[in-house]
Amino acid sequence: MSRAKTVLVVEDELPIIRFLRPALEGFGLRVVDVGRGGAALDLAVKVKPDVVLLDLGLPDMDGLDVLAGLRRWSSAWVIVLSARGGERDKIAGLDAGADDYLAKPFGVDELLARIRVALRHAESAGHEPEAVFSDGDLKVDLARRKVWVGRKETRLSPLQFALLAALVRNAGRVVGHAALLKLLWTDGEGTPESVRLLVHQLRHRLERDPVRPRHLKTEPGVGYRLEASE
Ligand code: CA
Repeated sequence: MSRAKTVLVVEDELPIIRFLRPALEGFGLRVVDVGRGGAALDLAVKVKPDVVLLDLGLPDMDGLDVLAGLRRWSSAWVIVLSARGGERDKIAGLDAGADDYLAKPFGVDELLARIRVALRHAESAGHEPEAVFSDGDLKVDLARRKVWVGRKETRLSPLQFALLAALVRNAGRVVGHAALLKLLWTDGEGTPESVRLLVHQLRHRLERDPVRPRHLKTEPGVGYRLEASE
């Protein structure tokens, strides 16, 4: 049997650890928790976590500095835990190399959904990414640049496809506005409005109900996420 996946919880609030630990252990994970950033960096070297849940407000260090320290050597999947409405925290976290964020307070279901995404990426780390993405009625073949909704092939403009491809490569996690702008408009001509418009067009191509999208979700103030269920 392969070793249990390890989650390092970097959090100084005991009630949150008391809530997280049984949920994660119940999911078959090994849980290591630590309340300070400096100790977290030392511990990470020792336990080599697959996933890190990182609170940004730590007593001894800024969580973003902990993230930067981790990123020097670790490719662990990092989920930032941010205060509700802390849009700037989320964006800063994603820019600093976090893979995902969870706004406090969060429920067990939401946490485990994110952990599932994290573990899927941990599983496939080192492997070639899936060339064909499939979720519900949406299927995307990146190599052949083909998209199907149900059985019907959908034609996309090069820019629409580029957006979709960026989201497919990061399926299940948020891609920030700034990252999309940089990726899609290398000449710097894009604006946040251009991204919104492109997303709007893409939803009309891919979604049965573009107003209540099933695939292409908005993360308010942060960016977009392509849903990736089992
Ligand atoms: Ca805290």
